[in-house]
Amino acid sequence: MSDKYDDEAAKLLPCDCNNRDGREGHFSSCGGYWRDEVGARLRADGAEIERLRTLDKTMAKAHNSNLVEMANMREEIGQLKVQLAGLHGAIMNLPLVVEFVDTDSTVGQAYRLGHRDARHASAELCAAAHGVNNE
Ligand SMILES: [Zn+2]
Repeated sequence: MSDKYDDEAAKLLPCDCNNRDGREGHFSSCGGYWRDEVGARLRADGAEIERLRTLDKTMAKAHNSNLVEMANMREEIGQLKVQLAGLHGAIMNLPLVVEFVDTDSTVGQAYRLGHRDARHASAELCAAAHGVNNE
């Protein structure tokens, strides 16, 4: 029962002692004497090469899947940055919830100042978050 590795070993190690009775009859100086060891080594190397090829295919698939995932994440981050950039303007333009008839009243002025400070503080937080994301 010889396989391709035995055949390859036989080609690599031709018998030069004219023995036709298997390994036992070869002189140790004859290539035929070493066929079994070399065939076994070729077989082991072939199995290792096949294992590495399979591993390489598996890793290539995982790598490709990671690249797709990264591209999706980049797109998502880009969309979030656009949303965050727009949020600053949206906060700055938030309308008053309560309109005072007498805008000069103390309560009306306090409300407007509080509204303004809250908008500015919120918008600053958005700008800071956007800046962090751009780094
Ligand atoms: Zn021989």
